[in-house]
Amino acid sequence: MSEHHRPHDPDASRLADRAQMDPRRRLLYLTFSRAVLVAGTLAAAGVAWSQPTQFTPQLLWLGPLLVLGFLLAEHLTIDVDIRQVGWAISFTEIPLVLGLLTAPFEVVLAAHLVAGVGSQLVRRLTSNLVYNVGVMCLEIAGPFAVYALATQVLPDGAPRWTAALLGTLASSLISVALAVTALNILRGEPRLPAALRLAAHTLVVGLLNTSVGVVGYEVAVSAPWGWALNVLVVAALVALYRGYYGLLREQRDLETLSDVSLSVARSGQRVAARPGNLLDGQLADADADEWQKIAERIREQLSAKRVVLRLRLDPAAPARALVAGKPLPEDEPPSHDDPILQLPGSQVRYFRGLDASDDVREALARRGAHEALVVPLRGANQLLGAVEAHDRLSRWRGFGRSDVQLLRTLASHLATAMDNRRLLARLRHDAYHDPLTGLLNRPGFREAAVDRLRRHTGSMVVRIDLDALSAVGDALGHSWGDRMVIAAGGRLREALGPGVPLARLEGGTFAALLADCDEEEGRRIAEQLHRELAAPYPVDRLSVEADAVVGYVQVPSEPAEEDDADVDTLLQRADVALRAARNAGDAVRGYVPSMGQIFLRRFQLVTQFRQALDTGQVRVHYQPKVALPGREVLGVEALVRWVHPEFGRLDPDEFVPAVEATGLVDALTSFVMDNALAKVRGWLDRGLRLSAAVNLSVRNLADESFPDRVAEALRRHDVPPRLLTFELTESGVMSDPERALPVLRRLHALGVVLAVDDFGTGYSSLAYLRQLPVDEVKIDKSFVLGMGTDLGDMAVVRSIVELGHSLGLTVVAEGVEEDAARDQLVEMGCDVAQGYLISRPLSEDRFEAWLRARTVRARGRRDETVLTLVR
Ligand code: C2E
Ligand code: CA
Ligand code: CA
Repeated sequence: MSEHHRPHDPDASRLADRAQMDPRRRLLYLTFSRAVLVAGTLAAAGVAWSQPTQFTPQLLWLGPLLVLGFLLAEHLTIDVDIRQVGWAISFTEIPLVLGLLTAPFEVVLAAHLVAGVGSQLVRRLTSNLVYNVGVMCLEIAGPFAVYALATQVLPDGAPRWTAALLGTLASSLISVALAVTALNILRGEPRLPAALRLAAHTLVVGLLNTSVGVVGYEVAVSAPWGWALNVLVVAALVALYRGYYGLLREQRDLETLSDVSLSVARSGQRVAARPGNLLDGQLADADADEWQKIAERIREQLSAKRVVLRLRLDPAAPARALVAGKPLPEDEPPSHDDPILQLPGSQVRYFRGLDASDDVREALARRGAHEALVVPLRGANQLLGAVEAHDRLSRWRGFGRSDVQLLRTLASHLATAMDNRRLLARLRHDAYHDPLTGLLNRPGFREAAVDRLRRHTGSMVVRIDLDALSAVGDALGHSWGDRMVIAAGGRLREALGPGVPLARLEGGTFAALLADCDEEEGRRIAEQLHRELAAPYPVDRLSVEADAVVGYVQVPSEPAEEDDADVDTLLQRADVALRAARNAGDAVRGYVPSMGQIFLRRFQLVTQFRQALDTGQVRVHYQPKVALPGREVLGVEALVRWVHPEFGRLDPDEFVPAVEATGLVDALTSFVMDNALAKVRGWLDRGLRLSAAVNLSVRNLADESFPDRVAEALRRHDVPPRLLTFELTESGVMSDPERALPVLRRLHALGVVLAVDDFGTGYSSLAYLRQLPVDEVKIDKSFVLGMGTDLGDMAVVRSIVELGHSLGLTVVAEGVEEDAARDQLVEMGCDVAQGYLISRPLSEDRFEAWLRARTVRARGRRDETVLTLVR
C-alpha cells in the first residue's frame, strides 16, 4: 500500500514505523497523538453531554449490527483502478450515516471503538492505539455535532438525511485533516496540492458512501420489504466487485509473476555471459540490483511492509538477504536456528504473533514484524533460499488466501528460474573451461578475448607449446603427461596473475591474452613464460625435463578491417610465429606478416602434393656417401625434391613436414624408395654394388604394413636387402617407441640397414641405442659443420664415433664440407663421410655424370668392382 495507491487511508501502522526512524519526529508525533486523544475524548464528552440519550429496545440488535457494519466497512476496502492509479475505497461512512439516522451517539461511538480497537488488538497493532482511539472519537463526535447543528440551522421542511449527509462529510474531512497533519509531522508531506487532492478524493468517496447509506436507509424504512431490496442490491454489488477484483488481482499477479521470472532469467543470461567468473558464488552487484528489484516487486504485489529475499547462491556460503521496504532491525538473527526459516516441504507458511509459540513470537519480534508469510525456494535438489513477507500494509486485514497463493506460485517460478540459471551457468562453465587444468578452453578464450579486445588497444596474443609432452606421455604414461600439463598451466597462471585470460587449447598448447603491452614488454613476458615452462617438472621422485616454444602476435592497434581483430586469426598467427621459432630453434618469436605467406604457401603445398607426385614435379636427388679413409663410394642418400610450377624448387624441409601432417607420407616414401631401388638395380646390372638410403618419417614406423611393402618392393626390383638403408631420426623413434619398435625389428629382420639420422640433436643417449636394432649412426651435420670452430662440437663428434664403435655401429658423418673436417674424421676413425665436399645432392643424370667424372673403377678386396673417388 504505497502512498500513491491509498491516498484515502493514511495507514496508522506505517506512520508509526516511520516515526520509529526519526526520534525527533516521533516525539512530535507522540505529542500530537495525545492531543488527538484528548481532543477526541473532550469532543465525545461534549456531544454526549449536550444530546439527550434515548435507549430503545431496538438498540439491543442495532448496536451489534453497527459494530458489524463498522468492521465490514473497514475490512472490505476495495481497490479500484482508475487511470492506472489504484484507489482504495473504504465504506466507513455507510455505518456512520446509518448510525446517525438510527442510534444515539454513545452507541455509535461504542460500536466504532469496539470494531476498530478490537481489530487492532486482535492484530496486535498497539503502537498507534492512542492516536487511533482519538481519531475514532473525533470521527464520531464531529458528525453528531454537525448533525445537531444542521437540524437547527436547516429550514424545518428539510429532510433528516440532509443533516446526516453534512455530518458524515464532516467526519470525512476530519479524517483527512488529521491524516494530513500526521503525515506532515512525520515526513513533512503531503504538500498543500496533494492535501487538497486527498481531501477532494475523500469527499467524493464520502458523498458516494453517504448517499448509498441514506438511500438504503430510506428504502429500508419506507418501501415495503425495503431491507430485502437492500440485501439484493448489496449482494449484486458484492458479486460485481468480487468478479472485477478477482480479475484485477489475477491480472496483476500474472504480471508480477512474468516480471519476476523474466528478471531472473535476464540476470542469469548476464551471469552466463561472463565466462571469467562463473559460479564464483559471489552475488555480483548487478545481480544484487536485479534481485532487489524482484524483492521490491513482490513486496508491492503483496502490499507487505517488507519482503526479505534470502538467497543461497553458493551452498557453502551463508544466504544473503535482500530487503525491500522497511529495513530489518540491526540484530536480525542468523538464519540457521530461526524457527521461521525451518521450512519443510515447499509450502507457504503463515506466522502470526498472536497464535504462535514463544520462539516464533520472538523470531517475529526480532524482525519487528507482526505476521510473516514464508516460503522456501526449493530447486531440483537443494534449498536455494527463502522469501519472507512481513506485515500486510493495512489497518485491518492481514495476509489472505490469495497472497499465499501468489507467494507459492512466485516461489516455484523463482526456484525454477534460479535452477535454470544455475544449470545454464554450469553448462556455460563446462562449455568454456578445460576440465583438466580448469583454465579456459578455446571457445572460452575466444569469448573472453573478444570482450577484452574490444575494450583494450595494444593487446598481444601469446601461444605457448610445452614440447616433448607427447614423448613424456608415451614413455611414462598419460597421467604423467596430464600432471605436467596441470603443472604447466599452474605456472603460467602464476606468472600471468589471475585477471589475464589463459586457456589450454589442446595437448600442451596454451594461449594467453595480454592487454595493454607494447612489443618490448610483450617479448619480455613471452620470454618469462618460456623460462617458467622450460624449468624441470618434479613428478613424484623424478624430475622431468621439458622445453617450450613461444609465439606471439601484437594486435593491430587500429584494426583496419573487422577481421584483423578476430581471435582465431590472432591465435593462428601466434601459431605461425611459434612454428617459425621451432623451425629456427628459437625459444620465442613474434609474428611478422611475411610468416603469413609461408603459412599460406604450406597450405597450398599440402593440397597440391598428391597431384605433384603424379605429374612428375617431384624428383629424387642422390648424394654420395664415401668410406673413410679409402674413398670408395658406398652408396647414396636419396633426397626428395619438388619443382613447383609456381614457387620453383622447393626444399624438403619446407614441404615434408606438411606432407607428414596430412598422411601422404606413405605415398612419398614409396615414391622415393621405388626410385632409389630402381637406381640400385640399374647399378647392379652394370656390376656396381651401391646402396641407397631412404629417409623415413615417424608415420612410416607407426604403419604395421610398412615392412611388408618394403619386402614386396625389394622383390619387385630384385635388390638384396643389404643395399637398402633406412634413415630415421632419433626423435622419430622416441616419440612412440612402443609402436615403432615392432616395425623396426621386422625391417631389421628383412636384412635392410637401419641408420639413426641427425644423431645428437635429440635427447636420447647412446646407451638407449643399444636397445634399438640399428646398424648405423649419422652424426648430425650441425656438429660436423661446427667442428672446425667449436671444440665442444669436436668433442661431441669424437665421443659419438667412439661410443658408436663400442656399440658395434657404423658411424657416418654428414655435412662434411671441408678437407680439414674430413681429415679430422679420418683421424677419429669415422667410417663414412657425406657432404658438399664430396658432392651436393644431384639429379639422376647429373649423379651419373658425377660418377663418370669423379670416380675410377677398381678391384675390391673380394674381387668385386668398386668406385673410388679420384683426388
Ligand atoms: P637429412 O636426412 O639430414 O638429409 C641431409 C640434408 O643435409 C639434405 O638436405 C642435404 O642436402 C643436406 N646436406 C648434405 N650435405 C651437406 C653439407 O655438406 N652441408 C650442408 N649444409 N648440408 C648438407 P635436404 O635434401 O634439404 O633434406 C632435408 C631433410 O629433408 C633431410 O634431412 C630429411 O630429413 C628430409 N628428407 C629429404 N628427403 C626425404 C624423403 O624422401 N623422405 C623423408 N621422409 N624425408 C626426407
Ligand atoms: Ca637423412
Ligand atoms: Ca641428417
